[in-house]
Amino acid sequence: MKIFKKINEIRRESEKLRAAGETIGFVPTMGALHEGHLSLVRRSAGMCGKTVVSIFVNPIQFGPNEDLSKYPKPLQIDKNLLLKEKADILFIPSSEEMYRNRETGVTSGKHSSILCGMSRKNHFDGVLTVVSKLFNIISPDFAFFGEKDYQQLTLIKKMVFDLDFKVKIVSCPIVRERDGLALSSRNSYLSLSERTEAPIIYNTLSIAADLFRKGVSPEEIEKLSKKTIEENSKGRVDYIKIYDNNLNQCTIESKKCRVFAAVFFGKTRLIDNMEVSK
Ligand code: AMP
Repeated sequence: MKIFKKINEIRRESEKLRAAGETIGFVPTMGALHEGHLSLVRRSAGMCGKTVVSIFVNPIQFGPNEDLSKYPKPLQIDKNLLLKEKADILFIPSSEEMYRNRETGVTSGKHSSILCGMSRKNHFDGVLTVVSKLFNIISPDFAFFGEKDYQQLTLIKKMVFDLDFKVKIVSCPIVRERDGLALSSRNSYLSLSERTEAPIIYNTLSIAADLFRKGVSPEEIEKLSKKTIEENSKGRVDYIKIYDNNLNQCTIESKKCRVFAAVFFGKTRLIDNMEVSK
């Protein structure tokens, strides 16, 4: 696996690959890799001749009181995992390398102010800015994103459409622990008792899917789900909302929607979502 830290070096490498006729798959991450990330790497390796993974904890997508400084950085473990998956290239730029004297950025559209955008102001502008920079640096044919961050995935697809990026976005299903908890680098922050309670998010989304199938209204499901979590665990609900798969309003007539949840366990904010249909 080749490792690059400098933009001009990885750009040269990817130009060389393209000139040789390779298809380039790209998996952007913030590291602390788990099976969720690795499922994207495998998907890329299955579709593309060369797979590039980036690890960059992007400072501009974190708010002032969020976990930027304590975000886990087990770089050697991550490198070993990627070696095992036969990733071809790893890009690990510093913040200085990525941002220098940056003045310009991408502004996300109206779907960035709902769900996570309500409590994480400017988060999605930071995500779209770093993703567009990485697309310009690597010029991948395909880029792989998890449905775990469904709002992010939707906003990235919209950016690619609106700004005419050439890359094709591939969405990949959520990988879960055996008890249903969605894998996340932030799960490592949970205490033992919080970890024991956290699968209530998945269980509540599953109940919500059942209620939706039975014709219960989205508003009623949102209310019941919040109550279920707060009465049966120490979880504090940031939001539980139902939207359609394009993040537009869902009504009682809608056939296919998605239920989204963000729940705090202590200081750790976990997100998850599930498709619901009739
Ligand atoms: P992150 O390192 O959290 O920025 O995530 C990097 C990529 O991995 C994003 O596209 C995420 O949606 C994806 N990802 C994170 N957790 C999971 C999971 N449990 N299942 C599938 N994809 C995931």
